[in-house]
Amino acid sequence: MSEHHKQTAPTGAAQHHQDLERRYREALLPVFGAPQKVLARGEGVHVWDTDGKQYLDLLAGIAVNALGHAHPALLSAITKQAQTLGHVSNFFASAPQIELAEKLLTLADAPAGSGVFFANSGTEANEAAFKIARRTGRPRIIALHNSFHGRTMGALALTWKEAYRAPFEPLPGGVEFLPAGDEQALAAALAPGDVAAVFAEPIQGEAGVRPLTPTYLRALRRLTREHGTLLVLDEVQTGMGRTGHWFAHQAVDGLQPDVMTLAKGLGGGFPIGAVLSFGPAVHDLLQPGQHGTTFGGNPLAAAAGLAVIGTILEDGLLEHVTATGEGFRRDVLALGHPLVQEVRGAGLLLGIGLATPIAAQVAARALEAGFIVNAPDASTVRLAPPLIITAAELDAFRAALPALLEAAVAEGEN
Ligand SMILES: *Cc1c(COP(=O)(O)O)cnc(C)c1O
Repeated sequence: MSEHHKQTAPTGAAQHHQDLERRYREALLPVFGAPQKVLARGEGVHVWDTDGKQYLDLLAGIAVNALGHAHPALLSAITKQAQTLGHVSNFFASAPQIELAEKLLTLADAPAGSGVFFANSGTEANEAAFKIARRTGRPRIIALHNSFHGRTMGALALTWKEAYRAPFEPLPGGVEFLPAGDEQALAAALAPGDVAAVFAEPIQGEAGVRPLTPTYLRALRRLTREHGTLLVLDEVQTGMGRTGHWFAHQAVDGLQPDVMTLAKGLGGGFPIGAVLSFGPAVHDLLQPGQHGTTFGGNPLAAAAGLAVIGTILEDGLLEHVTATGEGFRRDVLALGHPLVQEVRGAGLLLGIGLATPIAAQVAARALEAGFIVNAPDASTVRLAPPLIITAAELDAFRAALPALLEAAVAEGEN
C-alpha cells in the first residue's frame, strides 16, 4: 500500500465496519432504517462493535437479554439441550417444554385449569391471544390509545400507531381504541356485552414507558369481569422480572388477567413467546387444530426459558431489579436537571421524560459516549438493561446524563 493510501484509507477495523454496513444495505430489506453499529460480541452488560469500541448495553436488545450477554447459565442450558434434543415439532412433546409451561403457570399464580401455548415472538403470542378472543364469538375487541402489540396483521390491528397500520389496511376488523385511563369510556364500550376482549400493556413500553395506573388496571379487571369480556395483558415487554415482579400486573394486589402474552425476556435472547390462559373458562376456547406452530415451544427455546427463570430465582434478581431501578430513578431525579421532567416505569423498564423533544439526539450522543439507550418517542429516553446490571454500572450513565443532555441541546441550537 502506498504512503498516500495509508493516510486516507480507513483503518482495517473501520474498513471492515464500512464494508459490513454496505453489505447490510445491499442484502437486507430496508425496513429498519440504517443500523446504528455493527456489533461483534457481547459479555455481561457490555457489547463491542466491529471497530472494537465497547458499549454499556442499557437496552438489552429491547428488554430481551435479561441475563445480559453470554451468561454462563444460558450458554450451558442451550448447549446441553442442543446436544440432547433440539427440535421435535408439536407432533411430539419434550420435558423442557412441559417444565417451562408448569413454571410459568406457577410464577403467574394461575389457577387450576390454566394452560400455555408457546410461540416464537411477541407478535405471535398476541396473534394467538387474538384468536382466543375471536373464539368467544363476540365481534368487538378493544385496545388502548398508544398501544403496541406487534407487526403481524392481527397484532397490527391491535396497535395504535397510524403509520404502522395505514400501509396494510384492511386489517382484521372489529378492533376499537379507547384512551388509556378513561374508566367511563371503558364502561360505556363494554356495556352492550358484545366485546370479546380488552388488550392492554400494564406499562406501554413502545409508547414511551407509560404505566397504566393501578386504579385503571383494577377498573379494567372489574369491568371486563362484569361484562364477560376477556382481559388480555400484553406483558411481552414488562414480563419476566423486568419490573421487579415476575409480571408487571402482580404489582396490583390480586389482579389477574384471563390471558397473558410473553416474549422478549423469556428466552434471554433465544426467540420464544408464550400465551398463558387463566382458568377453565378460557382453556378450551382454542380447540385442537384451531392454532399451531412448527417451532413454538421447541426444547431448545424452552431450555433457554428455564435457564432465565432459574437464574432470576437463584440470584434474587427480582429484588435486585426493584432496588437498582428505584436507586437509579432517585439519583436521576436528584440531578435536578431542568430537562429531566420525570422518570416513568418500574424496576428496570424506565423512561426518562424530557422537557423538550431531544431524546433521539440524547440517544445518539449516548452511543458516541459508549451507552446504548433508545428514544421510543421524541421526549423519552428508554432504559431496559440486563436485569443483572449493577447499581454502579447504572450510575455511570446517570453521571454522564447531564453532559449528554447539554450536548443534545447544543446540537439543536446549531
Ligand atoms: C416487542 C413487543 C411486541 C412484539 O414482539 P415481537 O417479538 O417484536 O414480535 C408486542 N407487544 C409488546 C408490548 C412489545 O413490547
